Amino acid sequence: MRARALFALGLALAPPQSGGPVPTVGAPPDPYDHVLVVGVDGLRSDALLLDGVDFPALDRLCGQAVTWNARTDPDWTVTLPNFTGVLTGRLVEGPKGHGWRENRTPHPGRRLVGPDGEPVPGLFHVSAAAGVAGYLGAGKDKFVLFDRSWNDDAERFTYVRHRDAADGVRHLLAWWDSDPAPRTVAFLHLAECDAAGHAEGWDLTPGSAYLEAVATVDAQLERVLAWLDEHPERRARTAVVLTADHGGGVPLENHHGLGHLWTNYVIPFALWTGDARWTGPLYDLAGDARRDPGLWDPRPDAEAPPPIRNAEAANLALALLGLPPVPGSTVGAHRPLLAVPTAATR
Ligand SMILES: [Zn+2]
Repeated sequence: MRARALFALGLALAPPQSGGPVPTVGAPPDPYDHVLVVGVDGLRSDALLLDGVDFPALDRLCGQAVTWNARTDPDWTVTLPNFTGVLTGRLVEGPKGHGWRENRTPHPGRRLVGPDGEPVPGLFHVSAAAGVAGYLGAGKDKFVLFDRSWNDDAERFTYVRHRDAADGVRHLLAWWDSDPAPRTVAFLHLAECDAAGHAEGWDLTPGSAYLEAVATVDAQLERVLAWLDEHPERRARTAVVLTADHGGGVPLENHHGLGHLWTNYVIPFALWTGDARWTGPLYDLAGDARRDPGLWDPRPDAEAPPPIRNAEAANLALALLGLPPVPGSTVGAHRPLLAVPTAATR
């Protein structure tokens, strides 16, 4: 407690930094004990920016540190390659890519192996090694890839293939209620928006099936936030990262995998913490480490700051827990998205 108080005092006495965010005075200086990464399948940023259409939980989760101009993988705008990036901190292509291009349920025996023939680790390798309990809630069968590749004998996380968003949140909250460990990290995949997009199109007309699906997801995320509100001490130690695997609408209104265009590759990326430590545009908070790409999706370039991509989620989640990046990862590994105080600064 003393170190925490001194750190808070240090923040209070420090002069305002020019051009950079000033951490909230009094915020806990040490990492969070609980992190939830929410992956909303097929969520377009602009669905959350419509006049007269409110999504209370999504608005709250996007109400602190957010960008509506994050990016998918630069080459792939389909689910499994992107969520593999979210969980590994790698892009798909390149010698350091995770190399998973398939978007169907993998054949039995297929595992996540990189271009070098070695198994590709994910965030749960780091969290489990640190004694942080893991959870992966999947809304599609294809996520079995992660259970199969990383989780022999459920050694690193609890894997649940839920039926729908309501079932997924029910299982997640039951897992939280079971208090599996003092520190936890969870990934929750919610499939409704993608299913509606394929069935009826990524239609942003009020009342469309797609926006109804966003509302369905929102109502379930409201239950997650309500649970945290009922546990305020826990909430203060919790961070939630929200992102998507892709948008949708090109080349036909009910597709997203072909045609590398903005409706498919522009996605939201938000960080919400129980102590509201970071507030403001995420590109401003990231400073020189990231660059808003406008409407483009720049090619990976070792020299230029990259845009914020969904694959930031793995290493951001670990940083929020005070843990090191995923071994071999490239997104947010060397240039963190945000400076999260580490245990050494306590
Ligand atoms: Zn899809």
